Amino acid sequence: MLFATRFAPSPTGHLHRGHAFSALTAFDAAQAERGRFVLRIEDIDATRSRPEFEASILEDLAWLGLTWEQPVRRQSEHLTDYHRAIDVLRDKSLVYRCFRTRKELDIGRAPHEPAQPFVGGPLPPEEEAAKLECGEAFAWRLSLDAARSALGGFDGLTFIEEGGGPEGETGLIRARPETAGDIVLARKDVGVAYHLAVVLDDALQGITHVIRGQDLFEAAHIQRLLQALLDLPTPTYRHHRLLVGPDGKRYAKRDKAQTLRELRTAGVTPDQLRAEMDL
Ligand code: GLU
Repeated sequence: MLFATRFAPSPTGHLHRGHAFSALTAFDAAQAERGRFVLRIEDIDATRSRPEFEASILEDLAWLGLTWEQPVRRQSEHLTDYHRAIDVLRDKSLVYRCFRTRKELDIGRAPHEPAQPFVGGPLPPEEEAAKLECGEAFAWRLSLDAARSALGGFDGLTFIEEGGGPEGETGLIRARPETAGDIVLARKDVGVAYHLAVVLDDALQGITHVIRGQDLFEAAHIQRLLQALLDLPTPTYRHHRLLVGPDGKRYAKRDKAQTLRELRTAGVTPDQLRAEMDL
């Protein structure tokens, strides 16, 4: 299969150096393999995604010298595809409705503590019917127990890591989807969530290599499980180091990292950025 990789930004802000590093790393890999480079707009979060951020992403990537396949896939235009996959999982009894609110899930958790992975199961049928009757919103969660029985355990779930995880994990990796708990596959508001959309799109777009930051290494463990449950191929993973600033901290939207458009206005060139990033 022809080498294919992607850059999959969420249009919830302007791109910064960290994004540039990731996009250039994936693009260079595709060039080196004479393969395909795909840009995918991950905009299922309608409350945070904005068209002006998408426009600015396209502009910044073109400025960096990247070219990508057309048309660009925009996830918000394919919600019915994702809903269909939820139906498939539901028919196999691999998902259950979760009516809990964030507040209920956080009971007993101190503000400084990370959210615990949730493991539960469906409500008793009468209770569920009553909630449905009242029109209460629900999310679909993947049942780890049901997934484990369907696959006869998770031992056979592996993926190849050609880059490295945060602890230097590399080579043949055994997936540990259980550490994430029963993840939400379909949010209450949009009927889909990140992991499901990514796994389906990577398969649909023929992605052979997922090249992205190390901060998403844990996501591969969950995504590997979804690939098995949905009979989808497993790409090779190449998680790259995270670019850090002079203060030793990674660039992040929330820290108001300098955006690529600001750098551009300040007269920085793509070549200077590449040199700074050792690319
Ligand atoms: N849309 C995700 C993000 O912006 C990236 C998803 C991925 O590369 O798998 O963080």
